[in-house]
Amino acid sequence: MKNRDKLVIGSKILASKINNRPRPFFVQYSLLNACNAKCVYCNCPEREDPRASLEQHLAVIAEFARLGAVRIKFLGGEPLLHRDIATLVAAAKSHGMRTAVVTNGFLIPSRMDLMSQLDEVVISIDGSEEAHDAQRGAGTWKKVMAAIDACAAAKLDFFLSAVVTRDTTGEVDWLIDTARRYGVSVNFQIPQFNPEMYGPGAQQWMPSPDEIRKLIGKIIAAKDAGAPVLFSSRSYGRTLQWEDFSKERDDRPGQASPCTAGKYFLQMEPNGDIYPCVLQIGTFQPKNAFRDGVENAWRHASSHSCFDCYNTWLNENRGIFDLHPAILKNFWSNYLRAR
Ligand code: SF4
Ligand code: SF4
Repeated sequence: MKNRDKLVIGSKILASKINNRPRPFFVQYSLLNACNAKCVYCNCPEREDPRASLEQHLAVIAEFARLGAVRIKFLGGEPLLHRDIATLVAAAKSHGMRTAVVTNGFLIPSRMDLMSQLDEVVISIDGSEEAHDAQRGAGTWKKVMAAIDACAAAKLDFFLSAVVTRDTTGEVDWLIDTARRYGVSVNFQIPQFNPEMYGPGAQQWMPSPDEIRKLIGKIIAAKDAGAPVLFSSRSYGRTLQWEDFSKERDDRPGQASPCTAGKYFLQMEPNGDIYPCVLQIGTFQPKNAFRDGVENAWRHASSHSCFDCYNTWLNENRGIFDLHPAILKNFWSNYLRAR
């Protein structure tokens, strides 16, 4: 991300906070549930797959822009399977938003025209060949490495994102070495299996609490020693301090949460439902961008009763909008390569 972009985004967030006028700055925009992979811990491909029309998506993106969104991240399922992805990326860019995709990488080498239009590409990889293929399917590691090579050759801004399960806690060093070799950062997705997203059987892939703490301690030590870990030690520290990993969130029904999820960042599902964050899918009663209007659905998601969670990525997002100094410093100095 260019320093100029960081300054523009930072000043908008600061103005919004000073004036106490929340904006949906970061939009997680899920386009579809279909996927061309079948990872062992994910039931996305089995979920219903509602599809909105191109006109509906374009209207929603324009509305997010009007409300102040600065960054839109397309995800799924596999977002590169969506027939209108190129049009939607172009539309978001025409409104001045930064655009990103989260992808398993299979289609990247054949879609380099689109890749070059994106500001950020998040590529999912769980470790070395044997570990990755055991979780994501035989032959998939070679595909994702081809995608990484293609992005590196084209000098795109990309980073790696790993889901760490009970079987892949030993892959941290390989992932850090690989990120270092390509000059990018790596995000370790600490196991968190919302049953709605991942299915009830996914819990079996959780490392034990002791394994999680050992893993997080190792990631923090590596980060503090200068390894290209995407998120801050502060956010990983929040995970480390979590007392009971059988409980994903601290929900206090009837109380108004100060969590910035929903107010400053949000999750939209393929059917248009808007949630404060992905972990609230299945519990929060959402309003719908297509039926109720984007602003109405976003304002509804702004008010919820979830106070805390151990998810590193969500805590990093929360910290950005809480203006936490260590997280802002990480955002400035470590978030993607400066070009
Ligand atoms: S984790 Fe991602 S790549 Fe794997 S099946 Fe789910 S959506 Fe597809
Ligand atoms: S505390 Fe975490 S899980 Fe709860 S709403 Fe905030 S970001 Fe989502």
